[in-house]
Amino acid sequence: MGTRTAAAAPAMTTAEHIRLVEQFAAHNYHPLPVVIAKAEGVWVRDVEGKRYMDMLAAYSAVNFGHGNRELLAAAREQLKRVTLTSRAFHNDQLGPMCGELAELCGMEAVLPMNTGAEAVETAVKAARKWGYEQKGVPPDQARVICCENNFHGRTTTIISFSTDPVCRANFGPFTPGFQIIPYGDIDALRAAIDENTVAFLVEPIQGEAGIIIPPDGYLRQARELCRQRNVLFIADEIQSGLGRTGYTFACDHENVKPDIYVLGKALGGGIMPVSAIVSTRQILSVFTPGVHGSTFGGNPLACAIARKVIELLNTGCYQRNARELGEYLLGRLRAIRTDKLKEIRGRGLWVGLEFHTSAGTARQYCERLMHAGLLCKDTHVQTLRLAPPLCITREELDWALERLEKVLRD
Ligand code: PLP
Repeated sequence: MGTRTAAAAPAMTTAEHIRLVEQFAAHNYHPLPVVIAKAEGVWVRDVEGKRYMDMLAAYSAVNFGHGNRELLAAAREQLKRVTLTSRAFHNDQLGPMCGELAELCGMEAVLPMNTGAEAVETAVKAARKWGYEQKGVPPDQARVICCENNFHGRTTTIISFSTDPVCRANFGPFTPGFQIIPYGDIDALRAAIDENTVAFLVEPIQGEAGIIIPPDGYLRQARELCRQRNVLFIADEIQSGLGRTGYTFACDHENVKPDIYVLGKALGGGIMPVSAIVSTRQILSVFTPGVHGSTFGGNPLACAIARKVIELLNTGCYQRNARELGEYLLGRLRAIRTDKLKEIRGRGLWVGLEFHTSAGTARQYCERLMHAGLLCKDTHVQTLRLAPPLCITREELDWALERLEKVLRD
C-alpha cells in the first residue's frame, strides 16, 4: 500500500469528510470518526494515510480480506463480459453458482437475492407458502417463531419480529404472524409450536445481540423438534456462516442441517451484496414463475464472485484459520488480568467482550482502540465484538492482542 493516500481530488481531511456526511447523509449510523480510503488484507488506511487493523470485517462481509486477489480477479473477468441480464434471460454464471452453492450446503436448490434482509424475507415467504401449500395451514394463519434479541435485518416485516425497541419505534403497524420466545430455551420452543407453526427462524449464534452462543445441544434439539412437529428449521447464517466460526456454518458445530440456510454478507466477497436461501427442491418448489424475484438477484457479476467465494471455502483454509486462530485469540483474551470484563464469548474468529457497566461503555473502548490502531465495533452498549477478516495471520493477531491487552489493562 502507498504511504499517504489521496482519496479524492482535491484531497479532503477526515474532519471535512465527516462534516459532509453530517450535512448530507441521513444520520442512521454512529460510525467511529475514521474515514477509510484504502484497504488490503486486514489493514485499512484513512484519508490522512494512518493505518488501522480492521477487526470488524464489515460485520463478516469481508471474511476473505480486503482486496482479495482471487475475488478481485473473478470480478474483473466478469466485469469485462457481462454484469447484468435480469432474470428475464439466463446468464452463464447463475446455473454453476446455484449448483456449487447447493453442493457446499449439502442442499438441492438456491434462490439468489442481494442483501441479507431480502434473503430473510424470502425465507419467511417460502415458509409461509410451504405452510399453506404443503403443510395444510389454514389461509393467513401461518406463524413463524423467532427469538428474543434476534437480528435479521431492517425491513418492515423483519423489524416486526425484532425485540429491540430502537429498531421498531414509530415504524408500525407491524406484520403479524410472528411469535417470540427466549433464545436457547428448548422448552419454550416446544411449548410455542402449534399446528399453524410453519418455521423456527434462528441465528445459530446471535451476532448483533453480542455473540450469544446457545447452550450445547440447543440447535440439535431444536432441529429434531422441528422435524418431529413438521416445522421448518431456518438458520440465519448471514453473519455466522461461511467460515466465521471455524466451520463453513455455525450449525456444523452441532452437526445440524437446517431446512433452509439463509446466507449473505461474505457470499459477496466484500465486493457485491449477494444473498441467497438454500434448501430442498421440495421446499423451493413453492416458488413458481412470477411469485417472487429481484432485478439484481442472481446477476452474473454477483454469481461470478460468489462462485469464487465458494471455491475459497472449498479449500477449507479459511475455516481452519478461523478455528485455530480463534482458539488462540480466546485463550489470550481470557488470560488478560482485568476487572473491566464481565464475560468473554466467542467461537472461531468471532468474539464478544462484554464490559461491566462500571467499566464504561464498549463505544469508549472502541474509541481508545481506534487511537491505538484497531477498528472494532460495539453492540448493545456493553459489548465490543472482534471479527477480523479470516485471512489474518498469527503475527497480525499478536499485533492486535498487544493493543487490546494494553487498553483492557489500563
Ligand atoms: N441476518 C443477520 C444474522 C445479520 O447479522 C444481518 C446483518 O447484520 C442481517 C440478517 C441483515 O443483512 P443485511 O444488512 O445485508 O440486510
